[in-house]
This record gives sequence, C-alpha cells and structure tokens, in this order.
Amino acid sequence: MTSKTTGTRTSKLVNEIPPSGIRRFFDLASSMDNIISLGVGEPDFITPWAVREACISSLERGYTSYTANAGMLELRVEIAKYMKKQFQLSYDPKSEIIVTVGASEALDIALRAIVDPGDEVIVVEPTFVSYAPLVTLAGGKPVSVGTTVETNFRLMPEQLEKAITPKTKAIMLSFPNNPTGSTMTEDELRGIAKIVEEHDLLVLSDEIYAEMTYDHTHASIANLSGMRERTILISGFSKAFAMTGWRLGFVTAPSDITSAMLKIHQYTMMCASTMAQHAAIEALQSGMEDVKKMVQSYKQRRNYFVKSFDEIGLPCHVPGGAFYAFPSIKNTGLTSEQFAEQLLLSERVAVVPGHVFGSGGEGHIRCSYATSLDNLKEAVTRIERFMKSLK
Ligand code: PMP
Repeated sequence: MTSKTTGTRTSKLVNEIPPSGIRRFFDLASSMDNIISLGVGEPDFITPWAVREACISSLERGYTSYTANAGMLELRVEIAKYMKKQFQLSYDPKSEIIVTVGASEALDIALRAIVDPGDEVIVVEPTFVSYAPLVTLAGGKPVSVGTTVETNFRLMPEQLEKAITPKTKAIMLSFPNNPTGSTMTEDELRGIAKIVEEHDLLVLSDEIYAEMTYDHTHASIANLSGMRERTILISGFSKAFAMTGWRLGFVTAPSDITSAMLKIHQYTMMCASTMAQHAAIEALQSGMEDVKKMVQSYKQRRNYFVKSFDEIGLPCHVPGGAFYAFPSIKNTGLTSEQFAEQLLLSERVAVVPGHVFGSGGEGHIRCSYATSLDNLKEAVTRIERFMKSLK
C-alpha cells in the first residue's frame, strides 16, 4: 500500500504555516564546538532555590493530582496580589485569572477564544515568532504592521489606524519587546488605546518581560481608561523568575473571555503542572528579591553590550527592557541571514537574523544578553574581528 506524501494528509492550516526561522541556526550551531550563543531567549540563571525547594516539598507531601482547571485558587490569589502590587491592576482570582502551560498556551487559547474564521488580528512586528502562526491556526488572518528603529520600534497610532479594516478583531502588543527590547510608556500607549476603543477592538498584551524594564517602570495598556475591559493580559514565570522549563504562565482578562478560554483549556490541558504551581506560589511569595537581583544583572550587561556594539560599528538603539540587543547591520551590506551565517561559521557566535521576527526586522540581528559578562566580552571580541574581516 502506498502512503500519502507529506502535505497531502496534514491539514491545510498547518501546511500554511512556515517552520520557525530560528531553528536552522540552532541545528547548525549545535553541531559546532566552542560556540558563544547569543541566540537563546531564556534567562541564564537557575530558578531560585526556595522555589525549587517548594516543588520538592510538594512532591514529598504527595501533591501529585490534578488541580482546578483554572489553576490552584491559592496561586490565583497570589497572582491577583502580584498584579495589584506591581501594576495596580485588580483581577478577581475566581473568575478573571487562568494559570496556563506557559505564556505560550495563554496566547494560543486567547486567540482561539476570540477569533472567528477570517477575522484579522494585527501583529506588531518585529515580534515573537509565534504570534502570526497562532493567529493562522486559530482560523484568523495575521496582519503585519512593521515598526522601525527610527521610532525605537514603538507602534505609532497612525500605523495602527491604517491597518484597521472592518474585519479587524484584535491587536497583539508585546512591550518590553522580543526581539527589539523596546518599551512603550503610558503616554505612548494612550494614543494606541484611543484607536483601539474607537474601533471596538480587543488587545492581546503579552507582558512576559514586564519585570525587565531598566529605564522607567512598566506601563500596562490595561491600566489606561477603558482598556481593562478590552485587554487580555498575558504573562508568566519563565522570564522574571527564570522558570522556562517549568512551563507556567497566566492570563488575566474580563470573565467572558476567561470563561471562553477555560473551555478550551479544560479540554486540551486540564490544568497546568501541579508541582510547578506549588513552586509558583513560593516564587510570588518570596521570590521578588531574587527577581530584583537578576534584573540588576541584566541591566549591567545591557549597558556594557549596547555600548560595545556602537563602538564596533554596529549602531544599536538602547533597549529599555527584556534581555535582547537588536543592533543594525545595514552598514555591512549583508542581509541579516548572511551576517548571522557568516558570523557563526567564521567566529562561532550564534545570533538570530532579524528577518525571522517579521516586518521591520531585516537589517538587524537579535543578540540575547542573558549570558555571563565574560561570554558577552568574548562575543564582542569575536564580532569585532568579524567586522574587521568584512572591510
Ligand atoms: N512571549 C514572548 C514575547 C516570549 O519571548 C516568549 C518566550 N521566548 C513567550 C511568550 C513564551 O513564554 P513561555 O515560556 O511562558 O511559554
């Protein structure tokens, strides 16, 4: 019996989405020695000990069953307190918060909960590589709006206005941003909020890097007048608490939206990992000092790294948050893909070409500074040598 070939028996939706552009580089880098990787989007710290211990203790006490679909109430109460204290946002732990399998699951079920076939969702780029594919998988149409270094990769109200059509359902925002590190202040977000309200849109605000802001405190769009009712705020433990492997995130939103999301979550996930939830309670209760120390360290690395890029001839705007530098490589005459590939092959430094993050990303490379200062210094030496070899 002959089997059907690839692409003919898998769904049209899945066939439509491209594989992640980051992958090729990591396959290549993982086959090489003496690599300095600036490619990974995760903290280099280990989860604080008290958090790991809380997980161990939960296992010793035998907490190995499912939790409530929306997550342990004790954890949702801690999340509500955290959102209030850090961002002055009030959410009801019983009806407006769901604990998810990473922010990734929250993004997926938020889109599936709000998108009807053919709805358009505006994706502000360059941005996290999952957004457009998730919109497609939810049956919607991603509409890309590219930001540029000239506006420090912030979204301008007139750009948003232009992209809106009668089919627009929502806009996806992510500040501090991956890959640009850009942030938006409350005043800058106000212009966006006004248009969102005028066109009766929803906002998916991915604020997973909210703790990592270095020059001003984080502004959440949900805090602006009229926005709480329109905002699905997504966050999690991966970045701030160095907990990527625990797979734990959360979403806060008005209850009509969380109830729709919970339907999908209960059929697909049941609940997030029980032991990770026990650990997360500890993270929120005692981990903020650790978060502060890690953020201090990222800030020190950012200051060194950004200055170094400027000195070696790769202009770099100052990223106000997250842990990425996004220098321009335009003056080398290479595409971002060529730059990343040649740098990897000749100097064994792994970076991510900017084009994989969508419109506005070409002409830049993403370099994560979530690695030791020693590694960063060695990376700078190698990149500088590479720059000289191009002359
Ligand atoms: N959103 C953004 C902007 C990210 O950069 C990432 C991870 N790189 C995620 C969401 C996914 O986070 P999680 O580990 O919580 O699924």
